Amino acid sequence: MAAVDMRAWVRGFAALVDAHAEELTALDAAIGDADHGTNMQRGTAAAVAALPDSEATPGEVSKQTAMVLIRSVGGASGPLYGTFFLRFAAAIGTGSDITDFARAFRAGLDGVLARGKAEPGDKTMVDVLSPVADVLDKQAAGGASPEEALDAAVTAAESGRDATTAMLARKGRASYLAERSVGHQDPGATSATLLVIAAREALQ
Ligand code: ADP
Ligand code: MG
Repeated sequence: MAAVDMRAWVRGFAALVDAHAEELTALDAAIGDADHGTNMQRGTAAAVAALPDSEATPGEVSKQTAMVLIRSVGGASGPLYGTFFLRFAAAIGTGSDITDFARAFRAGLDGVLARGKAEPGDKTMVDVLSPVADVLDKQAAGGASPEEALDAAVTAAESGRDATTAMLARKGRASYLAERSVGHQDPGATSATLLVIAAREALQ
């Protein structure tokens, strides 16, 4: 049985984005163009509507989700989340345990890095995805249960998200503000934390 139920993950992500849409948009209003909440709400709702049936493999669910996110989120974050799920899809295939999940998450991060060219410390979603990929690798290698691994991943995501407040943005719209971006939490790091919390909630 899969460590993380992919369909439940996508549904849970959409529900969390929906609940936090105003917060995501307010964060983006401070250092961007105030559309991150609506972008993500539109895209994740479309991903839920397009979910394949329960017979689909984790790779098929993830690939379908990627296509819809690329098509319907828009902004900088749409292609980045789309790339995350596309690379995740290729790496997970029919894999099911926490080692497969950790490997696929790393592949997703690598896709975001290749596409967006951000590095850790640039005040983006990478500041969440990168420490989470590291902690998942470590937990999986140490024989952690899926629950232990995802608990540690949520902790890493939240501290990565919180750390973006003090950072100066070097990628995306927020980088236009330079020093004035300091003191604001990054919207994409915030939505990426919701992605990790949703994975924790989608454990079987
Ligand atoms: P836009 O900036 O086009 O309006 P969104 O508001 O939907 O797009 O998303 C903004 C978020 O995208 C940022 O908070 C940041 O986390 C993320 N982001 C922007 N550019 C990059 C990049 N090059 N690499 C990684 N993440 C990025
Ligand atoms: Mg925006």
